[in-house]
Amino acid sequence: MGRRGWRVSGKNVSDVWGLVEAKRGIFFDLSDRVWDMPELNFEERRSCAEHMAVLEQQGFRIARNVAGIPTAVMGEAGEGGPVIAILGEYDALPGLSQVAGLAEKKPVTEGGNGHGCGHNLLGSGSLMAATAVKDYLEAHGLKGRIRYYGCPAEEGGSAKGFMVRAGVFDDVDIAISWHPAPFAGVNNPISLACNEINFHFSGRASHAAASPHLGRSALDAVELMNVGVNYMREHMPSTARIHYAITDTGGSAPNVVQASATVRYLIRARDLPEMQGLLRRVKKIAEGAALMTETTVRSEIVSGDANLVGNTPLEQLMHRNLERLGPPIFDDQDKAFAAEIQKTLTDEDIKSSFARFGLKPRTGVPLCDTIFPPDSGDGSFVGSTDVGTVSWVVPTVQMRGATYAIGTPGHSWQLVAQGKAPAAHKGMEHAAKVMAGTAVDLFLTPSLIAAAKADLRERLAGTPFVNPIPDDVNPPVGAME
Ligand SMILES: [Zn+2]
Repeated sequence: MGRRGWRVSGKNVSDVWGLVEAKRGIFFDLSDRVWDMPELNFEERRSCAEHMAVLEQQGFRIARNVAGIPTAVMGEAGEGGPVIAILGEYDALPGLSQVAGLAEKKPVTEGGNGHGCGHNLLGSGSLMAATAVKDYLEAHGLKGRIRYYGCPAEEGGSAKGFMVRAGVFDDVDIAISWHPAPFAGVNNPISLACNEINFHFSGRASHAAASPHLGRSALDAVELMNVGVNYMREHMPSTARIHYAITDTGGSAPNVVQASATVRYLIRARDLPEMQGLLRRVKKIAEGAALMTETTVRSEIVSGDANLVGNTPLEQLMHRNLERLGPPIFDDQDKAFAAEIQKTLTDEDIKSSFARFGLKPRTGVPLCDTIFPPDSGDGSFVGSTDVGTVSWVVPTVQMRGATYAIGTPGHSWQLVAQGKAPAAHKGMEHAAKVMAGTAVDLFLTPSLIAAAKADLRERLAGTPFVNPIPDDVNPPVGAME
């Protein structure tokens, strides 16, 4: 089963798989180099430069400083026709430094960064797919433009939201992406819309014993706000999530009435309108807390993502590509290392990994050997992604690529440890083939693009898009040269 060629308009779409294979070394190396230089949110200067160098070497036309973000890049190839974008990422996470290829927790640098979400593979795999599509368009003299978007700061930075606001996707017909995972299949497009927002309270300092009546405590206001929001929890949709962190308590001296204090909220809900409704209510509670304490409050949004909007025609197309290719193939060495990693996990980790992708749990299966079914899982355990914001303005489809031992938790040292393994490379190449095949299908059959656009219009009918990043918020890149 699997790996069957197919023809559209006399052209063999599966030729693009060979084009992916022909350049695999370039992209395995790119992914490994980015793994070696884990950089955080908006600081991915070297990782972005690595992607730019490969774009240049492969003959893409390059746009730098996309949306005014120095670590965002876009490469385009081809002429006329539709525009298909493949989205990549390359940011890492703090505190997850880990030696590669080791099934034991051991940092390269104590407290250092690490690629705990596999974005070294994500960026390189997407550029691998875009390059194969470019080569395919050239080989067959086809009209159409393929783009690679190097998107920074996915981890809490919402860079794609800023890029949407700047209009960089306005002429894009279809967006395609993927994410490393334990299993391969079409991503079930469920994610939570979110906004991160700071509430700064200002009061009046005074001696807490000698003149407490003259003081107005900003810290009291933060505490009352948190109490108010905690009471609101009973009266919000059960799928919504609200988290907070007190980022400034105003000081450490209890004998001073704290004149300033800041609490950061992260508000998440199933879709953008629901999230915006909750945000309005949280703001009212902040005002209430200020009223109760005779302090003042000022709020500022830090980041925000829209929820993912699915696209049936694109998901069906990508699933057909997955079925034609079959699951990725791993050898005994790949399985042996994955089994070592699994020994560091709990049975619960492994079981819930199967369940999350709509699969029956099996034992003794270290790596993916199947394509998970479309609309997998019930979506009850989901986070947020800035791909969501893109999916409101461009028909978007994503897959999961099988790059890690089944059960590997996200943002874990185990995930970092597997980021340069041959299995990770194989899973990345597999994802690149599916994305490239999907893009080629779209170029050869423009009616699919029209169907995807109609599907998006239908889903969003009557719901105006409001970017969760307001016009007056800028990406935090001011300090960069
Ligand atoms: Zn990620």
